[in-house]
Amino acid sequence: MLAGRMMDYPLTITHFLERARTYHARSAIVTQNPDRTSSRATYADLHRRASKLAHALTRLGVRAGDRVATLCWNHARHLELYLGVPAMGAVVHTLNLRLHPSDLGYIASHAEDRVLVVDRSLLPLYRKFAAQARCVQRVIVIGDDGPVEGDGLDYEALLAPEPDHFDFPRLDERAAAMLCYTSGTTGNPKGVLYSHRSIVLHTLVSCMHDALGFRDSDVVLSVVPMFHAMAWGLPYSAVATGARIVLPGPHLDPASLLDLMARERVTFAAGVPTIWLGILALLDEHPKRWDLSSMRAMVIGGSAAPPALIDGFLARHGLVVTHAWGMTETNPLGTIAHLRHGLDLDAAAELDTRASQGYAVPFIDQRHVGADDQPLPWDGRSMGELEVRGPWVASSYFGDEGEDRFTKDGWFKTGDVVTIDGDGYMRITDRAKDVIKSGGEWISSVALENALMSHPAVLEAAVFAARHPVWGERPLAAVVLRPGQAASKDELRAHLEPRFARFWLPDEVLFVERIPRTSTGKFLKSQLRDEYADLLTKQPPG
Ligand code: ADP
Repeated sequence: MLAGRMMDYPLTITHFLERARTYHARSAIVTQNPDRTSSRATYADLHRRASKLAHALTRLGVRAGDRVATLCWNHARHLELYLGVPAMGAVVHTLNLRLHPSDLGYIASHAEDRVLVVDRSLLPLYRKFAAQARCVQRVIVIGDDGPVEGDGLDYEALLAPEPDHFDFPRLDERAAAMLCYTSGTTGNPKGVLYSHRSIVLHTLVSCMHDALGFRDSDVVLSVVPMFHAMAWGLPYSAVATGARIVLPGPHLDPASLLDLMARERVTFAAGVPTIWLGILALLDEHPKRWDLSSMRAMVIGGSAAPPALIDGFLARHGLVVTHAWGMTETNPLGTIAHLRHGLDLDAAAELDTRASQGYAVPFIDQRHVGADDQPLPWDGRSMGELEVRGPWVASSYFGDEGEDRFTKDGWFKTGDVVTIDGDGYMRITDRAKDVIKSGGEWISSVALENALMSHPAVLEAAVFAARHPVWGERPLAAVVLRPGQAASKDELRAHLEPRFARFWLPDEVLFVERIPRTSTGKFLKSQLRDEYADLLTKQPPG
């Protein structure tokens, strides 16, 4: 029997915006400006300015479903776009400013963006792909320094004459709200179109205590860029709970972030491991310089957080790191590594569990399958491709590309190779394309990297495949040493030896200045693979 007695109340982002004004009007939005001064606004301002924005965009001809692109750093006006555009029924499309201009041109024209809102400092980037994105009819420029040239419109001048109140429409909860593209490390970037409903459900679960646990007393620093994977939903989770939000603008170096964390008494921060590796190294150098006593949690994800990083923060600085996994296709939160009550772990097992990618949050189902597509046992050993499903997991891509990523029985194939243990904790051993296949056996690059990064002289390590005349592929390691530290290839191999089968040990260790990174700060292993593909075929195998 269907109930039919409960109200049909749509789950929309508009509700968060209205709550922000009604109950959290005084909550602050702090932006670090390009000149390092700070600007402050409130959630009352957010509501007022999102209303003005909705009027201005309506005046420019933006209608329900139209895509409004952003090419912006993290700042208060980007937050206005995150809320105001979906609330008026249009779709906010965040462009990743770290992508190559030709990718941006492809994405903007694929999305058929109608309006583009761009930071003044990023106008030169926009000009590089403007010819490819002829669908863009209006360009709105954010920037406080002087008039806008050409036919661009000034964001502030556009908003100024508009009324403070907008009659936000009652939307269908399945209406499109936001469009994000994957960065396309394999093939063309693909778009994921989130609905109001999927974002609202993702927000509610993200805010649960055993997920991100947001509350109105939190001060949330979003190091994760608002131009990638919806900044892990932090903007919506902050607005939904009334937490203060701190947006770092373009300054993402460790010292600037630590200054900001200490000055704003940040309680919660989130970012990718490369950011936190830099922060930990600086904290180790100057353990007393910053007062971080306000911090309650740091969430790390986007690529594997090495156990040495998680342990280093806790053991040396008393800071708790929570490891999480997600994808653009999953809104993005999928799993989180909370230590469940009653697990009864010793110290080593506890660190191992914290360093896992965790278990699925409510309403996400996880399984992993073998080569025959059959589910594998949760024994902590069987490796297979992770598949997930849930109300905020994409069921197709924008434009219906990539159909092969979706199974007939309703699961999304993540492309991550994992194990799952008896308690449901999932561990990523590789992305499918990064797996090293040596003599028919799989070698986990992530496990080797984590072990290398536990060596005191190693700052960063990436392990990747090179061609080999006998074994097909063999692992190589690219290593960045800590300043003033030394280590040899033999020493690092000896460090790995007790933990791995002999055939797992990298054939070569390349000492490099910097590991190339993707647009979102992950190690760019495809570049390493291309660069060193023939290293072992050119020299006699060692
Ligand atoms: P891309 O990396 O292609 O830009 P996403 O940002 O959506 O796209 O990245 C999703 C991928 O990032 C996942 O499939 C997984 O490989 C990786 N990833 C995310 N979180 C973690 C994590 N905690 N540990 C290891 N890998 C992760």
